[in-house]
Amino acid sequence: MSKTQCTDRVVGAILAGWRYDISGIYPEMRKDYEQHFVECPHCRARQKFHRSLDVTLAVLTSLSASFFLFALAVLHHIKPVEHLAFNIFSLDIADTYHMLVSAGIAGLVFSVIGLALVLTTTPVPTYLSDMAAERAKILEDRLPESIKSLLPR
Ligand SMILES: [Zn+2]
Repeated sequence: MSKTQCTDRVVGAILAGWRYDISGIYPEMRKDYEQHFVECPHCRARQKFHRSLDVTLAVLTSLSASFFLFALAVLHHIKPVEHLAFNIFSLDIADTYHMLVSAGIAGLVFSVIGLALVLTTTPVPTYLSDMAAERAKILEDRLPESIKSLLPR
């Protein structure tokens, strides 16, 4: 996938096993791995790839959950669905409605479970809160002194 090679195969293999996530280990143990990320462009690239994959999964599962929620809201309010089912497919209105609602609820439940799995098994929450903290720090540094002095420390 990438042309670069890891500078330290042993550390590289350990990091690969963790999907390049070192947020779960103690800060004092983390130093060597952080140093490796600084020195090794290969592992740095892999780490970036895995974190964007995690964020993509979280975004997709939450989108999926909101689409199912939207579908349920639509089913609740729109009568043409009943009209379509009755006239074109000659289905029983109540049965069709229940079938669609069940499918919507099942989809919503699976999406929420998927999102929960992504959030618990990947470092997405840590990654995003670190990124937010970094952004806040940058913004804070840009503020004029008069406003900075008002901020709580
Ligand atoms: Zn490496």
